[in-house]
Amino acid sequence: MKCAVVAALAAIPLFASALPCGFDTTTLSFAGTPETQARCLLRYVSRGGVVDAKPATLPPLLASLVGTTAPSVDFIRYAAGKPVSEIGGDLGQRLERVRYFVIHDTSTPWLGDAPDFPPNDAPELNRIAHYAGPNAVAHVFVNRLGETVLGHDFAEPWRATKFETKVIGQPAKGLFVHIELMQPRRRDPQGSPKNDLIAPLPGFTPAQYEKLALLYAAASARAGHWLVPAFHADLDEGLDDAHDDPQHFEIDAFAAALQRLLDHLKEF
Ligand SMILES: [Zn+2]
Repeated sequence: MKCAVVAALAAIPLFASALPCGFDTTTLSFAGTPETQARCLLRYVSRGGVVDAKPATLPPLLASLVGTTAPSVDFIRYAAGKPVSEIGGDLGQRLERVRYFVIHDTSTPWLGDAPDFPPNDAPELNRIAHYAGPNAVAHVFVNRLGETVLGHDFAEPWRATKFETKVIGQPAKGLFVHIELMQPRRRDPQGSPKNDLIAPLPGFTPAQYEKLALLYAAASARAGHWLVPAFHADLDEGLDDAHDDPQHFEIDAFAAALQRLLDHLKEF
């Protein structure tokens, strides 16, 4: 299902027990320790947006980091050696309210009934500039080559899930940052005319995991602590027309990329 921003609607009152991962509307936090929250929010997303019932098993690195003090922004700035826009905006601007780092796939480009996916370096899979703009649906977009465009600085409150816009409403503003990883989709011939059920396998490229790790470190550094990672589909679980992204995300590949980044930081 295409991941697109949803209209900001008035919050729908729900009993706390109905909210995913025990979200508390008073504390604006999911239930449990940061590790417990991450295990719930990173439950694997299968085809069609079916979310695993059991908590995810976190790679040891993620389990030990989440919620703890993050590296300084100076470290990130120095180690990244990249333009600021590549890592989520102004590293000097602290993220006071952000707690959650939400991982999406774009579900685009849609290739319809194409018999297979083109190689990851094909130009049609990497056109990224059009995602930017005042109404960009996420903070940062990452194409298959690991190139990025900035939709909004991480400091700009921007909601990109139905959980934020339809369930929590205004109080959700600024709690979440959103990363869209480009992922093409194809139509399942057995499904509806416009379905986008078929995702490539593997779902993402090494370059995308590398950039995602850098973005995670940068956002965490600006927040002062390692944010709780989450999948879009886990946040929207149970909602009508919930999205199915990200498909085929490998949490171990993300953790390995994060480990390489931390090893690199040690060199400074
Ligand atoms: Zn999404």
